[in-house]
Amino acid sequence: MFLRKETIIVAVSGGKDSLSLLHFLSKLSKKAPEWTVKGLLIDEGINGYREILIPKFVSVSEELGIEYRIASFKEELGYTLDEIVEIGKRKGLPYLPCTYCGVFRRYLLNKIAREMNGSVLATAHHLDDAIQTFLMNIINNNWDRVARIGPVSGVITHPRFVRRVKPFFEVLEKETTIYSIMHGLYPDTNAGCPNAPLSFRWFIRKFINNLEMKNPGIKYSLLNSLVEILSVLKERYKESELKTCKICGELSSQDVCRACMLRRELDII
Ligand code: SF4
Ligand code: ZN
Repeated sequence: MFLRKETIIVAVSGGKDSLSLLHFLSKLSKKAPEWTVKGLLIDEGINGYREILIPKFVSVSEELGIEYRIASFKEELGYTLDEIVEIGKRKGLPYLPCTYCGVFRRYLLNKIAREMNGSVLATAHHLDDAIQTFLMNIINNNWDRVARIGPVSGVITHPRFVRRVKPFFEVLEKETTIYSIMHGLYPDTNAGCPNAPLSFRWFIRKFINNLEMKNPGIKYSLLNSLVEILSVLKERYKESELKTCKICGELSSQDVCRACMLRRELDII
């Protein structure tokens, strides 16, 4: 997952999972003298949500003595997520807020991690996230996406790609919660993203949690199924060579990247 010499950019949302990852990797880096850990938070511009979490990110980063950066949709794309959702509605586009959010956040994470000289981007996706994504993609028959759920991104040689890792891939959300409470990282607010209940993931998360309550161990069982199938899928859906987006120059699987496609549909390019 990590090499002897790394500049690790931790993608932080300001929530319990990502602050735990930032804390954990920062502590671990004391034993790895050639590691540098930095934090990166993308402020999407979701009224009444992200801005509440930012001060905690700042105070934890300063306590740990690590370099950090806050970037926003507004500065980078010209619009907040709330504004983008409104434009999408006016234009009659069929996307949910999480679609815009996910595409633009991934885009900016890669771009800014590179600007911060990151050799690897670490995200706090845990076991619960992995099995939710697994189930969502099975339901939608997206096996190529299942192939990309693993803890380490494949070898992509595009010069603009920052390798991605998920150190908490085998860690339950319950455990990151305990870690965050033990280390004083749990956010001061319980307010979740107001858009979350609109997402498919919300239902899947509830479904899996109910199953786990009735049949303890089902989460590990789903993870094992995922790991089992990953080796087959990785062979079948080998990471193809990435192209360069004709509009923004970032990496893309098509001639135009997904972020530019969405910006074109929204007419905000
Ligand atoms: Fe973005 Fe959706 Fe997550 Fe809210 S719930 S932060 S809109 S991906
Ligand atoms: Zn692009």
